[in-house]
Amino acid sequence: MSCIFCQIAAGEIASDIVYRDEQVVAFRDLNPQAPTHILIIPIQHIENLADASEEQAALLGHCNLVAAQIAQAEGIAEDGYRLVTNVGAAAGQSVDHLHFHLLGGRRMHWPPG
Ligand code: 5GP
Ligand code: ZN
Repeated sequence: MSCIFCQIAAGEIASDIVYRDEQVVAFRDLNPQAPTHILIIPIQHIENLADASEEQAALLGHCNLVAAQIAQAEGIAEDGYRLVTNVGAAAGQSVDHLHFHLLGGRRMHWPPG
């Protein structure tokens, strides 16, 4: 298995895991872009959002709700936070396993770079 996020989900690569259930894992980004920067991934390997199907709609919704729950637990929900997923090279996707970036703890800019 060559996918690093599959390996993180399987515990084969160490990471700072903040949440895990039977469907998703969330861990701190190695190169944080904000005081709080957590990645939420489905355990199932899906390349990105463009590769997801209708059968995975509940899983995708679950990832988002878990992100909101983690934002509460991390204390960033009151001030506000950003949840973003990069799809493809032009958006800057560098790991081909679907992940949602949860970013908070600082003022976010719009439009994003
Ligand atoms: P992307 O650029 O694909 O949207 O985001 C990939 C993210 O994964 C980047 O923010 C990068 O810092 C993070 N990342 C890459 N490899 C690892 C790793 O081995 N462990 C952790 N915790 N984060 C990683
Ligand atoms: Zn994977």
